[in-house]
Amino acid sequence: MRMGLGKISGKRQYQFVEKFNYIREAGTEGEKRASDEILKYLREIGLIAVTEEFEFSAYEITEARLKVTQPYEKEYRVTGYKRCGNTPENGIEAPFLYIENGDEISLSYAKGKIVMVNGLVKKEIYQKLVSHGAVGFITMSGTPIDEGEDLEPADPSLRGVKESPVQGVNLHYKDAVELVERGASRVSLKLQQKQVTRSSRNIIARIKGLDKEEEILTLSAHYDSVPQGPGAYDNMSGAAIIMELARYFAENPSRRTLEFIWFGAEEAGLCGSQAYVKAHESELPRHRFNMNVDLAGQLIGGTVIGVTAEAPVCQMLAYMMHEAGMGVSFKNDVWGSDSNTFAWRGIPAMTLNRDGFGMHTRYDTIELISPCSLKRSADILLYIAESLAEAKVFPFRREVPEDMKNRLEIYFEE
Ligand SMILES: [Zn+2]
Repeated sequence: MRMGLGKISGKRQYQFVEKFNYIREAGTEGEKRASDEILKYLREIGLIAVTEEFEFSAYEITEARLKVTQPYEKEYRVTGYKRCGNTPENGIEAPFLYIENGDEISLSYAKGKIVMVNGLVKKEIYQKLVSHGAVGFITMSGTPIDEGEDLEPADPSLRGVKESPVQGVNLHYKDAVELVERGASRVSLKLQQKQVTRSSRNIIARIKGLDKEEEILTLSAHYDSVPQGPGAYDNMSGAAIIMELARYFAENPSRRTLEFIWFGAEEAGLCGSQAYVKAHESELPRHRFNMNVDLAGQLIGGTVIGVTAEAPVCQMLAYMMHEAGMGVSFKNDVWGSDSNTFAWRGIPAMTLNRDGFGMHTRYDTIELISPCSLKRSADILLYIAESLAEAKVFPFRREVPEDMKNRLEIYFEE
């Protein structure tokens, strides 16, 4: 058993990642080009693959403006928050207030104001802004040492809220400093966006099991990127790792069926995996485990396996890594990637994740990827996948703990 170690090539994975040194934003030509490339590669290694197209909703900002009107007049370069609705056509004008991290004392002054907070706004702080009566918000991205291209503010999106009565924009850190330094006291803010339907695709290759064909294990990774950079680390490296495993298992099939899935539109909100579980609804009872990879390939970092399943699954995977002597840490929790979608549908799931630098930035390129690191992560995943695919009796239940399921239910509802 476990003949796979020693058959994994880091160099081959690296060469695969190299082919995709372009931006693959969900629903764009770049993503389409990447899906064709993956399909072609699968054909070359002798695997039959299918493409499953699906539609998802996206938001396009048509106008985002921020202007200080008192005590000086100046318009700043901003990006608009997606998924948080539109201001009136003429925008809103209100007193300006900087409330740092949104502590309760500062928030008590927010009513009727356009408030600026540190960092980007997430669900929790957004709901506080709304409940404290802020009429608009401003966030900041970047650092005080940025120059040139890096002065471009990041492109934020509001997630996890059903109602979005308050709109916001994002500006660069250095401009945020200027607003406070020059004592901005009144600002006007305008945000207009529209919802559009885009299409993306998942690519699927199945290797039938030899004697437990009815039991399915999935290995998955998303291949789309954010619009800021070519996503070599997030997550073409993950796509390369499962490709390397697909190549191995095509030559060495297991007892159980292995399904390899390259998801589109993960960055748009796990859209590819949601389309997958919908399209494969009737087959889901046969699914035993999902092994997802998201973030990989950098030499300096730490390897974490996020296990969204019962505690014994986590302990078992930890045992395997002890047995193999490969250093990994574990987290038994819900995760922020496509494995969540499987767990939500009651299928135990994990994401193999490697900490690193530059996720969702223009620095996420092949320059930071190392064949050594790819090999190590692929070896880890192969060890787990082959142990489970070859076990005479599958070693854990098809159950996800209630509390995780409840949290996932809320996550996907929004
Ligand atoms: Zn990712």
